[in-house]
Amino acid sequence: MIAPAMKTRQQEALRYVELAQRGARVERVLGGEDLPRFSQVVEGEIAVEVALTFSRDEASRPCVQGSFRARSDMLCRRCSEVLPHELTGDFELTIVGDDATASMLGGEHDVLLAESEMLEAAEILEDELLMCMPDQLCPHGACERLLPSDFPPSEAESAPAAERENPFAAIARLKD
Ligand SMILES: [Zn+2]
Repeated sequence: MIAPAMKTRQQEALRYVELAQRGARVERVLGGEDLPRFSQVVEGEIAVEVALTFSRDEASRPCVQGSFRARSDMLCRRCSEVLPHELTGDFELTIVGDDATASMLGGEHDVLLAESEMLEAAEILEDELLMCMPDQLCPHGACERLLPSDFPPSEAESAPAAERENPFAAIARLKD
C-alpha cells in the first residue's frame, strides 16, 4: 500500500536537459492521481514503478530510456472480466521542444514533445502505458473465459474435417 502522505505529494518535475547532461537515472512510484488518463482505463488502485535514464543522442538531443511495471485491476476486453494484471514495458524517447523537430524526427525515433524545460515523470510515462494496454488479459491464445460459449466445437463443424482426412471414404460411397 502507498501511504496517504505519498499519494498527495506533488511529483517533483524533471529538468530533462540537465538530467541528460549528467546521464542521470531517476526512479519514481506513481499512483492514480499522477496518471489521470491511465486511471480511466483501469479499475481501482494503481501502482506504477518507473526507472528513467536520461542521456543525449549523437546530435546532443536529450533522450530518455524508461522501463516500468504497472499493477492494477484491468478489464479484459474479450471476456469483460476485471482481473489483476501487471504491465511491464520499455521505451526510448527523444525529447524535443517543438512540433517541427518532432515531425522531422518522428519517422525514425519515438519522440516526446516537451512544452517546457520541465517534465513530469507521468508525462513521459502515460502514453507508453496506454499504448501497451492489452485487449486481452487472459493467458494463452484463446480467452479461457470465452470457451464455454464455443467449445467444444459442434458436430457440424467437425464432420467436414473428418471427411477431408479420409478421401477414400467419399470414393467408397460413390461405388456403392
Ligand atoms: Zn478474458
